[in-house]
Amino acid sequence: MVNPFEDTLKRLDSLSKYCSQGWCDFKEEDLKILAQPKRVLTVNFPVRFKDGTVKIINGYRVQYNDARGPTKGGLRFHPNVDINEVKALALWMALKTAVVDIPYGGAKGGITINPKETSQEDLEKVSREFIKQIHKFVGPTKDIPAPDVYTTPQIMAWMLDEYEKITGEHLPGLITGKPLEIGGSEGRGTATAQGGAYVLRKAAEEYGLDPKNGKVTVAIQGFGNAGMNMAKILSDWGYKIVAVSDSKGGIYDAEGFDVDALIKHKQETRSVTGFGGSPISNQQILEAPVDVLVPAALENQITKENANNIKAKIILELANGPITKEADEILHQNKIVVLPDILANAGGVTVSYFEWVQNNQGFYWKEKDVMKLLEEKMVKAFEEIHEIVKNTGVDHRTAAYIIAVSRIVQAEKARGHLNH
Ligand code: NAD
Repeated sequence: MVNPFEDTLKRLDSLSKYCSQGWCDFKEEDLKILAQPKRVLTVNFPVRFKDGTVKIINGYRVQYNDARGPTKGGLRFHPNVDINEVKALALWMALKTAVVDIPYGGAKGGITINPKETSQEDLEKVSREFIKQIHKFVGPTKDIPAPDVYTTPQIMAWMLDEYEKITGEHLPGLITGKPLEIGGSEGRGTATAQGGAYVLRKAAEEYGLDPKNGKVTVAIQGFGNAGMNMAKILSDWGYKIVAVSDSKGGIYDAEGFDVDALIKHKQETRSVTGFGGSPISNQQILEAPVDVLVPAALENQITKENANNIKAKIILELANGPITKEADEILHQNKIVVLPDILANAGGVTVSYFEWVQNNQGFYWKEKDVMKLLEEKMVKAFEEIHEIVKNTGVDHRTAAYIIAVSRIVQAEKARGHLNH
């Protein structure tokens, strides 16, 4: 299994050569500041579950880089969460906030737990206890968590409530992705997918895919917050959603699915399986004959083993880290356009930033204003990256890394942390 953290460090290693070609102005030695996280916190704490047993819960929070502002990043509740995954996710957050140019650094956290086998009551206890453990480490001007895989607005609400009990103050800017009633933002629920859709729209124009003809086909792996909302937006825009999957398996229908009915089925049965079409595995969906592939589940899905079998023209990475470095090279050779995670799924953190700004102002915006600002941010980031791609022939991920690392290095230099 590829270690996603080491894989990303290898991607950083090769970047400075583009500076000698005039595309950036950092040196190889500057990259040492990004070779390890600034702070890593591991917590192991007991929680008494409602069946009377005490379990020791393992949690992490990694603050990778904060040169550009307070660190920002989600919290993942998943049985496979480990420190290497959290470190990689935290580094990607630092790069992502720089790509969309919002005044944050990058962080990530997680708890090794299976929420599907945990009652709501026990999840609440674990969430509250986790915040007690990390409360000195986080805060609206230090480090701002948010939802990620298997964490929800409700979990954000419990964490905020516990934090406010500890501090004795109302501090909604502690955490984003909250319910609207306690300081959430309009548009945050669909922001990751919406931001990805704005990026795809620009890329589709550049590469000659026109969804209005009803023939542009899409496969989506993962049908949670990111994947399900993406299916809805793209189908409303005329794309044909022909394959979808979740942790229980997938379905394929060359004629395309009725996405509203599919979402209803997922909500009622908790899976997309059994809705219609023919069954397809989570590996097969990646190799489906489609124009656009949207990985929206977990890391390391496209590797050197299956990269040559990918048939999509464009891959939009709503998931973090679904493609390994070796696979990237194969896809680039095969002329498949990869819109990388640090651009494609940055809509989530961008609207999280808008939520935090609203919390700090105590003034709340209309959904249409949130969406307008989101579109501006996403389109600008795509155009900056695509300009480098057109001029140099590098892939979109390399171009995004060049921009992100340049911005972080400039901030580190301004602080006097690097040699001039
Ligand atoms: P979620 O918990 O809402 O949904 C996860 C989905 O993935 C579920 O449908 C689940 O069944 C499915 N899944 C789990 N294991 C799978 C497997 N092995 N194969 C196929 N499907 C599987 O999570 P989410 O928020 O939608 O996050 C999905 C991805 O998007 C993650 O990589 C996350 O880091 C990334 N992301 C999410 C946000 C956000 O705002 N939610 C922002 C940026 C990036």
